[in-house]
Amino acid sequence: MTQKNKVHQINDCLCLCESKIHNKGVFASKEIPAKTTLLEYTGELINKEEGTKRENESIEQSKKDPTKAGTYILEIDEEQDLDGDTEENYAKYINHGCEPNCEFDIKGKKAWIKTTKKINKNEELLLNYGFEWNEKKYHLHPCKCGSPKCTGYILEEESWQKLKEHLNKKSLKH
Ligand SMILES: [Zn+2]
Repeated sequence: MTQKNKVHQINDCLCLCESKIHNKGVFASKEIPAKTTLLEYTGELINKEEGTKRENESIEQSKKDPTKAGTYILEIDEEQDLDGDTEENYAKYINHGCEPNCEFDIKGKKAWIKTTKKINKNEELLLNYGFEWNEKKYHLHPCKCGSPKCTGYILEEESWQKLKEHLNKKSLKH
């Protein structure tokens, strides 16, 4: 069933494989309990100005080439961002899901991926990338996670209501 040439073992419990959601994804190669720290989200620490610049550049790029993911910029704190777009950062391949089973665990200037629930063998790891609501930009980050809860966009849960109201308003206009 699995195409061996397309599977890359990351460590003893994770592998990188083709995902139905977006290109590649990270999957559990064995059952993983809840609250397990899995791997570090590594990258380059940059200031906010540089982070915003790179984020905008990658959005432009993904508009031209949809196979490119939007952005790997993670907010570390109020001063710095972490650009996870490096070869050794396998955590960047974890896709967004509206019903995630992992979360970011940020300690100091480092970010880790931690499970929030038990993950079954062959299940895909999913994170909520928690993008803030932005009426002009939300449509640039579509979500195809396939969950019954899917909002259609990569958005923090706190903003789901705003999206709903916005979409309702839009449909009334037509
Ligand atoms: Zn979704």
